[in-house]
Amino acid sequence: MLLRMTLLRKTTKPTALATAAALTLAPMAALAQEGKGLAILRDTETEQLLRDYTRPILRVAGLEKQNIQVTIINAPVFNAFVADGRRIFVNHGALLQSETPNQIIGVLAHETGHLAGGHLARLREQLAQAQTQMIIAMLLGAGAIAAGSRGSYGNSGLTNAGVAALSGPQNMIMRSLLSYQRQQEESADRAGVKFLTETGQSAKGMYDTFRRFTNESLFAAHGADPYYQSHPMPAERVAALEGLARTSPYWDKKDSPELQLRHDLMRAKLFGFLDRGDTVARRYPMSNTSLPARYARAIATYRHSDLRSAIIQIDGLIHTQPNNPYFYELKGQALMEGGRPGDAVAPLQQAIRLAPRPALIQILLAQALNATNNPKSASAAVKLLRGALAQEPESPDGYMQLAMAYGREGDLAQADLASALAAFMRGDTATARQIAARAKTRFPVGSPGWVKADDIVSTKPASGASR
Ligand SMILES: [Zn+2]
Repeated sequence: MLLRMTLLRKTTKPTALATAAALTLAPMAALAQEGKGLAILRDTETEQLLRDYTRPILRVAGLEKQNIQVTIINAPVFNAFVADGRRIFVNHGALLQSETPNQIIGVLAHETGHLAGGHLARLREQLAQAQTQMIIAMLLGAGAIAAGSRGSYGNSGLTNAGVAALSGPQNMIMRSLLSYQRQQEESADRAGVKFLTETGQSAKGMYDTFRRFTNESLFAAHGADPYYQSHPMPAERVAALEGLARTSPYWDKKDSPELQLRHDLMRAKLFGFLDRGDTVARRYPMSNTSLPARYARAIATYRHSDLRSAIIQIDGLIHTQPNNPYFYELKGQALMEGGRPGDAVAPLQQAIRLAPRPALIQILLAQALNATNNPKSASAAVKLLRGALAQEPESPDGYMQLAMAYGREGDLAQADLASALAAFMRGDTATARQIAARAKTRFPVGSPGWVKADDIVSTKPASGASR
């Protein structure tokens, strides 16, 4: 388990959408402007489950070759959206609030509907057009205000006319954008239901989730709920969705018990890592002996540094599901963070053997190897990290561990280059350039390492986040 926050780099920030519409992404735009990015949450188990949820949907949507990623945002409110045509973003709140796989799969199917419909590109066009219209409207309005104030001091009538000229067209533009957005929502609903039916799944979860938002919106303060903002859910839209969803032969079909268990384990893990200990204890009391409840309690126990008890609990989980890679990963992480990196190595190796895409766990194992202070482990760590970074080329953690491993091997040129890349991936361009300049002096001029370091040195300071 590697639940750690990574800032989403500026390259992937959906600023183009955010600025004009101010519908969906206003908080993200604010974050982006502060240079903080989005806190994304990385966890191999959760990412694998979301991949398994989306794969069939993307296939019937004709998007299987586009390498669409699902990115988890570390935010507790319910939200899901597409932003750059390549990614579906899901708040961890949406995962925690979805009690069945079918509910979150429905949301993913709807978002895939936006991707398949090319809504993003078209919304951008609309926004560009709207921006031009708004600028014209503002110029007209400003002109009228200037004329008003110049002509007659204290004549508020004329000045007000200027203000009206400013806001009238803008309202119209905003309304036309909103109606365009509504059309997109309805079309994404239809596409989503189609994808679900074609993959033999029910659209009931999608309907249940969306209906919840209509109901909740009656009580929720306006503006409080980002999903409601980005997905206006008028009653007629939800009614249309219900009509559509009920025609499916799979309306009553339930998720398989295996998938439901994986879903419950994923939620238990997120609760275990993100909630306070007493909250976990209330949600998963000792009387609940289910595997997910035991998982959540084991995580909460290790987080509150009772390592001995946590390991006993995790061994119990492994005993129940000896082929679950993420129980070994948890054991390794608990041991490493508990100051026993040497003992973490074997369970992490086992997790890597069992997990379908273990790149993040490989980085964790390399961290354990580095922490053992055994010089013989350094070359093993380098090898692991090279493989992991090929899968996760933007991982600052990976480069940081690589720098340590090279340092231990005495390869200072490669260590500097890796440190520079770690800083670069963190978005700290100034540090990256500084270390890369030092790396250049250690490599033979023109060698591959020198060229890479030179690339970093010649990055423009202001464009640190783009490559
Ligand atoms: Zn939507």
